Amino acid sequence: MKIAINKAHFPVTVLGPGRRIGIWLQGCSIGCKDCVSQDTWARDSSKEMTVARLLSWCREVSAGQFDGITISGGEPFDQPLALKALLDGLLHWRSTAGLDVDILCYSGYPLATLQKKHTVLLEKLDALIPEPFVASRPLTQAWRGSSNQPLVLLSDRGRARMQAYVDAPITEHDKRIQTMVDGQRVWYVGIPGRGDMQALEQRCAERGLQFEHASWRS
Ligand code: SF4
Repeated sequence: MKIAINKAHFPVTVLGPGRRIGIWLQGCSIGCKDCVSQDTWARDSSKEMTVARLLSWCREVSAGQFDGITISGGEPFDQPLALKALLDGLLHWRSTAGLDVDILCYSGYPLATLQKKHTVLLEKLDALIPEPFVASRPLTQAWRGSSNQPLVLLSDRGRARMQAYVDAPITEHDKRIQTMVDGQRVWYVGIPGRGDMQALEQRCAERGLQFEHASWRS
């Protein structure tokens, strides 16, 4: 089974509790206004890899020393068969290796749509952050880009780990952004505040550093 991946990183510490494997799927048909991840929108077969290879990378990079997996995008549920294969592989790994790790997945689809169309996939998750990003709604809670996006806990493990975050107001600690450099590209991981990325680009331009492409503008 092939899965289209925008990027993967370890450790991610800003999208869920603890040190996490982060996997961003490529392709999103939703198109939220002012999305900061527009580089993930296009379907791109050159970004496909086998689910088996992705699972091997997860095992190697984490060496079993991690707290959870965050799957984001792009829109993970736009690749339902690949997402199912990935989740099945992660659950098999968790069970056979005796890992105490949770699986958190983002989606821009409404919760009601996911509950209607993807019950089987939801049963494989510990937590879900659904609903489209709405730039006019404030950033008020950890790990979520706008206040319409709930943290939905789907398992005992999810409830044990994340119940305290469901309604808690965002803290300064929750506003952190991770930065990674990959050749000529700089990756930012996390939930930026409104206008933060544009302000960063402006500050860099004032110092003579021009961004050739930026995922927050098309
Ligand atoms: S916020 Fe997420 S769901 Fe919305 S367009 Fe961007 S990648 Fe797609």
